[in-house]
Amino acid sequence: MTNAAFDLTDRTAMVTGANTGIGQGIAVALAAAGADLVLVGRSSCDETQALVEQAGRKAMQIRADLSSIAPVEGVVSQALDAFARIDILVNNAGIIRREDALDFSEEDWDAVMDVNLKVLFFLSQAVARHMTSWASQHGARAKIVNIASMLTFQGGIRVPSYTASKSGVGGLTKLMANEWAAKGVNVNAIAPGYIATNNTAALQADETRNRQIVERIPEGRWGDPADIGGAAVFLTSCAADYVQGHILAVDGGWLAR
Ligand code: NAP
Repeated sequence: MTNAAFDLTDRTAMVTGANTGIGQGIAVALAAAGADLVLVGRSSCDETQALVEQAGRKAMQIRADLSSIAPVEGVVSQALDAFARIDILVNNAGIIRREDALDFSEEDWDAVMDVNLKVLFFLSQAVARHMTSWASQHGARAKIVNIASMLTFQGGIRVPSYTASKSGVGGLTKLMANEWAAKGVNVNAIAPGYIATNNTAALQADETRNRQIVERIPEGRWGDPADIGGAAVFLTSCAADYVQGHILAVDGGWLAR
């Protein structure tokens, strides 16, 4: 297999939560592999747009609050107006709320489930309706990559809605793969380990937890958003045309312990 199998030249990739962290790392990696980017987020994606353009690719921004499905149709139609096609969707936007399970509120349950699971599903549905129609006409495969978590496999502590949502992402990834594989869409997930982003800032700042985490990671360090980018390029490229419903851990060996 040559590098051409990993080439994303002229593919259009939509990444949610692309302004920072893992979403930014993925957007930049996809651009370096040749993709043009639709950057979706509730905050400005100016920094990511500049990085994509430095890589010689086009980028557009769509502002959307993905805490409800209200903006979903508009996000898809704006992207199609600009690029005519969405070849790749990366469902990255996500939140976490921490509280003892005995005290966990309905508000913290719903907020996390809505962003991490409900909107992930309905955005995938809206994009897949488009992907399945052009894939059947053009014989090209489209790719959806969901961002899962170690808590797709493990229980975690003090994060009940996060664990429920990310376990759900694992199940939905397989369901969507089962239904859409024959219609030209590959659906897979990446389960990041401990990655240094805003999401994990509190853990990194806690000296004891930080030491415990790093000691347990065979690689002996926190991951960087760029570490997730390579896996995203693989799963969205032709090299992964026969990979379906897989949850790829990119965790420095965390799950191997
Ligand atoms: P992050 O820096 O906090 O990024 C989260 C992204 O999601 C941001 O772009 C954020 O936008 C966006 N987002 C959250 N709520 C949104 C909403 N209502 N509408 C639109 N966008 C919204 O954290 P991250 O670590 O990069 O997280 C990215 C994904 O990786 C998440 O799904 C997370 O669960 C997953 N993950 C992270 C780790 C880790 O160790 N960091 C491990 C496993 C999985 P704003 O900046 O505007 O809030």
